[in-house]
Amino acid sequence: MADARWLGRWVAAGAVALGVAVAGRAVGARAGAAPALLVEAPPALARQAAAVRALEGGDWGPALKLVGLRRPGPPIRVVLAPEGSRLAANVASWVSGYAVPELDTVVLFPGRVPSYPDGNLEALLHHEVAHMLLARAAGGRAVPRWFNEGVATVAAREWGIGDGARVLLATIGRGPRSLAELDAGFSGDAAAAARSYAVSAALVRYLLQQHGDDVVGAILAGVSHGADFDDAFAAAAGESVGAFARGYFRRETSWTRWVPFVTSSTALWMAITALALLAIKRRRERDARLRDGWALEEPARTAADLPPRPEDDPAHWN
Ligand SMILES: [Zn+2]
Repeated sequence: MADARWLGRWVAAGAVALGVAVAGRAVGARAGAAPALLVEAPPALARQAAAVRALEGGDWGPALKLVGLRRPGPPIRVVLAPEGSRLAANVASWVSGYAVPELDTVVLFPGRVPSYPDGNLEALLHHEVAHMLLARAAGGRAVPRWFNEGVATVAAREWGIGDGARVLLATIGRGPRSLAELDAGFSGDAAAAARSYAVSAALVRYLLQQHGDDVVGAILAGVSHGADFDDAFAAAAGESVGAFARGYFRRETSWTRWVPFVTSSTALWMAITALALLAIKRRRERDARLRDGWALEEPARTAADLPPRPEDDPAHWN
């Protein structure tokens, strides 16, 4: 029973932690101005088109705040393309969508959503619209790929419980270990691209932790005013992008990268699960021991109940 009480306390602590997380999400979910979406789809994708239209009224506040925009700007054309279409044939099979800021258009491939990194249609829409909002915040000027993808991934809130673990698993022993390697990964195979997405998002999260929630918007504002990315970054963050990246990759290769994971709710739930499994295993072992005991006791008792055979009667030898 001691095991069960101990386990109960862990479960209660986990429930409290989860409750706090859920409450925090509700507080953060205040609606901001929403972009107008003009959804186009063939009849075969009517159901997904309706789902995307319903997402127009979603919570776009965090994405706008991240890129430093007060208003989302002109309507965004959202084209849903089926597998087999020319749009689908033009990109790698693992690409689930892309944004064309110059045309105020995003293209989504709903048939590929399951293969999108841990996402669903909502995350995909938010990710591609975030690219659009970022481009608008940057005045249409170029930013590095890692920054663009990292911001879109964070804006889409694709970063959730378990992502710290995913970055760890994605990068152990095989990089990327520099911004150049990170950007090259996007042009590599699906696995390299997945690693680059995960690390870019981690890098942008680290940027926000180190330099505050407004830093991405400040960098983009600098770029939109004509500064090149490195200068805008240094002005907003107070350190060069090179120094920032070296700090991140140094930290990632040290033992401290494990601390956020070990102290995360994922680790807590993994610990709770492990304890529950351990408790079940111990219970089963104890039950098995008890059963074995009964099995041993049973013939013994039966033997004791039987009268001794005449030849086994000690009196026989006396
Ligand atoms: Zn993207």
